[in-house]
Amino acid sequence: MAVKRDYYEILGIDRNASPDEVKRAFRKLAKEHHPDRNHKEGSAERFKEVNEAYEVLSDEGKRSAYDRFGHAGAESQDFGGFNGFGFSGFGDIFDAFFGASAEAEAAPRAGSDIHARVKLSFEEAALGCEKEITINRIERCERCNGSRSEPGSETSVCSDCGGRGRVQRVQQSLFGRFANIVTCPRCNGEGRTVKNPCTQCRGQGKERKRHTLKVNIPAGIDNGNAIRLNGEGDAGDRGAPPGHLYVNAEISPHPHFTREGFDIYYEQDINFAQAALGCELKIPTLYGDEKLKIPAGTQTGTVFKLKNKGIRRLQRSSYGDQLVNVKLVTPEKLNKEQKKLLEELEKSFNKGSKNKK
Ligand SMILES: [Zn+2]
Ligand SMILES: [Zn+2]
Repeated sequence: MAVKRDYYEILGIDRNASPDEVKRAFRKLAKEHHPDRNHKEGSAERFKEVNEAYEVLSDEGKRSAYDRFGHAGAESQDFGGFNGFGFSGFGDIFDAFFGASAEAEAAPRAGSDIHARVKLSFEEAALGCEKEITINRIERCERCNGSRSEPGSETSVCSDCGGRGRVQRVQQSLFGRFANIVTCPRCNGEGRTVKNPCTQCRGQGKERKRHTLKVNIPAGIDNGNAIRLNGEGDAGDRGAPPGHLYVNAEISPHPHFTREGFDIYYEQDINFAQAALGCELKIPTLYGDEKLKIPAGTQTGTVFKLKNKGIRRLQRSSYGDQLVNVKLVTPEKLNKEQKKLLEELEKSFNKGSKNKK
């Protein structure tokens, strides 16, 4: 048997945590790792571990035995461990605890949502594009069309539920006795059992597959925005809808453009002569170069606006602006001629300033 982790460590609490703190930590972790809500690898194991830790630490007697004698102590306190429960057992305890209704439990389960990511360049996000993404999802088995039976073979009425698809289950749990109407585990709620399981999905009716699909990226999408593709998630139980696919946009930064909302910021270096005399510049934008007039006497840090040259607002026809921040750059090297000219300029400036003093 694997070495057991410390129960306090599992719940992430202090050794002197109050019963309330124990409960809070358990609720949080149980929600996080519940196998019905979380399909990450290892979450089922985590969930089991969290339940076991809570079972002990929420019981005064077991907790004090555990504090003194460790895992062996807890087990000696009439604690059989959690191995006796199947996984659906955990689900029931959990659902009873958090108030899920028996009806929801009995209905065929909808497929899970899938979250995927799509990497976009700055331009792709700003202008919109079509992207292919590949996901791993549970799909209806093609061979048996989800029936779980080998094509051509017959099914028989389920002996456990008599074809109703539901059974009543009475469960003794930490929180009392519960009678739940649950989906018949033998037939999965279908009322019929399979004689010859489908050879492709081994009687599951579903199989995990890689699937590539095209995603239309709307112009203006920003980092963290998600696109929802209805019904493109995991297949549900027979008769239940599939989940949705959420595609999260991850946009790489641009070497020169910075985005703020739907405006684009761009920094343009100019030299002293251009600033003092004024000039006309070519500014790159998402839509090609644009002419920008810098008036004589422009100060560093002045921001000019190229109207409607920003990003198209999501699902609208209007655009943001491109803002050009002009930065005056002092030359680090001068050739002889430039130096001479600047010295003359300085003399001329000094003449002017003498009169002012
Ligand atoms: Zn199949
Ligand atoms: Zn059944």
